[in-house]
Amino acid sequence: MTIVLVTGVSGQDGSYLAESLLSRGVEVHGLTRDLDENVIDGVTTHQADLSVGGEVSAVIRHVRPDVIVNLAAVSSVYQSWTEPMLTARVNGTAVAEMLAVVRDLDHSGHEIRFVQASSAEIFGAPESTPQNECTPVRPTSPYGASKAYAHGLVCAYRAAGVFASSLILYNHESPRRPETFVTRKITAAAARIAAGLQDRIELGNLAARRDWGWAPDYVDAVERAARADEPGDFVIATGVSHSVEDFVQVAFEHAGVDDWRSRIDVAESLKRPGDAADQAGDAERARRMLGWVPTKNFTEIVTSMVDADIARLA
Ligand code: GDP
Repeated sequence: MTIVLVTGVSGQDGSYLAESLLSRGVEVHGLTRDLDENVIDGVTTHQADLSVGGEVSAVIRHVRPDVIVNLAAVSSVYQSWTEPMLTARVNGTAVAEMLAVVRDLDHSGHEIRFVQASSAEIFGAPESTPQNECTPVRPTSPYGASKAYAHGLVCAYRAAGVFASSLILYNHESPRRPETFVTRKITAAAARIAAGLQDRIELGNLAARRDWGWAPDYVDAVERAARADEPGDFVIATGVSHSVEDFVQVAFEHAGVDDWRSRIDVAESLKRPGDAADQAGDAERARRMLGWVPTKNFTEIVTSMVDADIARLA
C-alpha cells in the first residue's frame, strides 16, 4: 500500500488531501505542530515543529513514506512581514531538511516522491500576466522569498535525480479557509451582515486582483503531480483574475446585502507593502502534462463559500 506523509495536514489543503487519499485506500500520515490540531479521522498523526532542525527528518525516517506532500507553511503574506525568521525556517530551511533526507533514503534504495506547495508569490509583482513556469522569480515579501528558496531547492534536488515537483499554486479558497484570508473574511462578513449580526467590513486594498481557484481542485493537482510519470514545475491557476471589490460584490449580493459598497471601510493598516496588483496563472503545462483543469469558476467559488457561512450561522 502507498504511504503518503502530508505536512500541514490540519490546514485547508491538508484536510481535503487527507480525505481524498483515504477514500482511495492510501495510508495517510500527517504532520502537525501541536497536539490539539483538528485532523481528519483515519490519519496517523506525528508531531514535529518544522522550525526546529531535526524534527521533521526524524518523522520521515520513522514513517518511510512513498510520497511526501509539503503543505505546511507560515501561509500568510501579512504574517511573514512580522515573523520573517519563522517564515524562513518553516517555509524554507525545513524544505532543505526534508529534501536532504529524501535524497539520503533514495540512495539507500527507498525512493520517495516529493511534492512542494509553492506559490504565485514567488513571482512578486509580475510585469506581465498571465504568469507561467518561465516567469522570472522575483519575490516582494518574506513569504514569497521563502517559497522562492524552497522552489529553487526542489529544482536543485530534481536535477540531482530526486522525484521532486513544485506546484506554483495561485490563491485557492473554500469554506475551510480561515478568516485571515480576504475571501473567507468577506464571505463570513456577508453572512453575518445579512443576518443582522454585523454592520460593516474593514478591508485593505480593494483593487488588488487575484486568480482565485477552488481548493479541492488544487489538491487534485497535487495528487496528479505525485502520480505523474515525470516530476516538474507546474503553475496551478484558473487564468482569470478578479479584484477584492468584485469578490465583495458577488458575496454580498448573493447573501442578499444590496448596499454592499456602503458597507466597506478601507483601512490603510490592512494595505501591504509590495502587494502584487494583479496575479493570474497560465496552467497550460499542468493541463497538458497532468490532465488537470479547474472545475469551479469565480462566481461558483464565492457563492459556495457564502452558502457555507450562512449554513454555519443557521
Ligand atoms: P494572499 O494573496 O495569500 O496574501 O491571500 P489574502 O487573501 O490574504 O490576500 C489576497 C489579497 O487581498 C491581497 O492583495 C491583499 O492585500 C488583499 N486584501 C485586501 N483587504 C484585505 C484584508 O482585509 N485581509 C486580507 N487578508 N487581504 C486583504
